[in-house]
Amino acid sequence: MINDSKDNGFYSDHKYCDKCDKYVSYLMSVDTSYCVECGAAVHLFSKSDWETFNDGLQERRPKGGRPRNKGAKKAKSPKTAGDDRETA
Ligand SMILES: [Zn+2]
Repeated sequence: MINDSKDNGFYSDHKYCDKCDKYVSYLMSVDTSYCVECGAAVHLFSKSDWETFNDGLQERRPKGGRPRNKGAKKAKSPKTAGDDRETA
């Protein structure tokens, strides 16, 4: 996979700092990134952006579970209920 985030990713260069209350440049550490301006840990999104992001994810989920596949899997008809060899 090609990493093309350099050209089109604001979020790849900035993270949200709670203390500065804005997106800032950051220093990357192994587990955490830090604001270059105040040194606080930064987040990928601000809270409001994170909620928007999560809402977007949930909207993509289909409601009411999987749609039924009609005819894809034969249900046993009552007439052949005793015949199990068909499943082998
Ligand atoms: Zn900061």
